[in-house]
Amino acid sequence: MTSSPSSSAVLVPAVVLRDKGDSSSPQDLWLAILKQIEPKLPRGQFITWFKDTALLSRDGGTVVVGLPLPMALNWHMENYRAMTIEAARSCDATIEKIAYKVDGGLKDNRERSFDLLEHFPEKKRRKLPGRQEVKMAEGIVSKILNPHYSLESFVVGSNSRLAHAACQAVAAHPGDKYNPLFIYGGVGLGKTHLLQATGNAILKQMPKATVVYTTTEDFTNQVIEAIRSQKMEQLRRRYRCVDVLIIDDVQFLANKERTQEEFFHTFNALYEDCKQVILSADRPPQELQLEDRLTSRFERGMIADVSPPDYETRLAILAEKAREYELFIDMSVLQFIAEHTTRNVRELEGILMQAFAQYELEQRMPTVKSIAEIMRKLSKDPYEEEEVVGFQVPPKRAATFQDVLEEVSRYYSVSVNDMIGASRVREVLLPRQIAMYLGKTYLRMSYVRLGQMFSNRDHTTVMNAMSKIEKKMQDDPQLLREVRAIEQELGFGR
Ligand code: ADP
Ligand code: MG
Repeated sequence: MTSSPSSSAVLVPAVVLRDKGDSSSPQDLWLAILKQIEPKLPRGQFITWFKDTALLSRDGGTVVVGLPLPMALNWHMENYRAMTIEAARSCDATIEKIAYKVDGGLKDNRERSFDLLEHFPEKKRRKLPGRQEVKMAEGIVSKILNPHYSLESFVVGSNSRLAHAACQAVAAHPGDKYNPLFIYGGVGLGKTHLLQATGNAILKQMPKATVVYTTTEDFTNQVIEAIRSQKMEQLRRRYRCVDVLIIDDVQFLANKERTQEEFFHTFNALYEDCKQVILSADRPPQELQLEDRLTSRFERGMIADVSPPDYETRLAILAEKAREYELFIDMSVLQFIAEHTTRNVRELEGILMQAFAQYELEQRMPTVKSIAEIMRKLSKDPYEEEEVVGFQVPPKRAATFQDVLEEVSRYYSVSVNDMIGASRVREVLLPRQIAMYLGKTYLRMSYVRLGQMFSNRDHTTVMNAMSKIEKKMQDDPQLLREVRAIEQELGFGR
């Protein structure tokens, strides 16, 4: 029977209406939500954590968000749940709740999820003129100060208290008591950070001030160029209009007589005008082998050193850096890095950067094991060159069954107690079976022993679990990947 014209006339607008109201298929709605979230997150985080996600279903006010990996679950719940619900509500005010569901089938599945990179292409970065340098006045350039270097983000320890306090004092009253300010210490201990942070702090208070930050190398090149083009007078005049002159690594002035002489004149002119000069070097002034008159000028002001940080300071620096990179990392892992890296801060940072890269690329949370691995790779041959590389890499230790339990527990976000306990809820069944499988396969534990480990279960239960998990791994490539990831973390099968 065909429907009567009148009924279709009634139906058509209804259908159109409904179409409009629901125009968001789950896919469209999810895309709209992601568009709200994307500007609020650092790009790396957004891509890492929202890749292969989807809106699976909607039941009244509850939308179910699918995540491709079990490990993403906790992370989303703790970090993105509020943001996601807010974005969802701004797309559709009737949404009340978000539920998460792990669905391994979403991984790399373009039918069910999006290619995030296609929908959110990387925006071209705004190019700064000359990028590295900025013109301050006619003929005067400064390197761009790194905005991340601030006096607040510098972690103060007994190794750097005086230097930091001096920088603060100079930032508050440039050209006053501590002029020049001379910071010295070994490589990677934070001299450049302090110098730039002081420059940043001065600019914050006095945005119109001409703050020039330059390296000794650049300064030398300018002098050489001025000599060549016979414009020395001009260069001198130009530097006089600078309010704050910051020169990094003045140890490189050694053996450059002409540059030293020019610097001496510039320094004097600024000093007499009560303009602040800030310098750094890898050793104290008297050891720099510079002209005496220059050394004595340096000694006239404030001299402070930075030395290698102690354990507590190293740990505090790591925590601060992890916060800056927005890297969620376990305290025990930071402690491990702080314990085993002793040379300088740059080294600490290097390890953290690697951990960050790993976490972005492979979605692997840094663990003590993965960090030890990074440290091994960063040092060429830790066992032969331990002294030289500065790392104390712990010897490889074979994983124990406790490690297996902890790793599986971490990976699937279930507690070890639940895993070995009596619970039969679905969330713990799989992790339990995987732990049994790993114990049997790699630690060669007997069925009986494994049964005892899991609340005295009968050995036949373990045998059953084994055959189930082996079958599942054959059928489900996603599960296989997960088990392989855990094996890798535990150092199995290498
Ligand atoms: P230097 O100039 O002495 O060789 P840098 O200033 O370049 O060392 O420091 C190396 C890295 O370590 C920088 O990224 C810097 O931010 C960081 N750093 C050093 N000391 C500290 C500290 N106390 N707190 C925070 N970051 C630090
Ligand atoms: Mg430096």
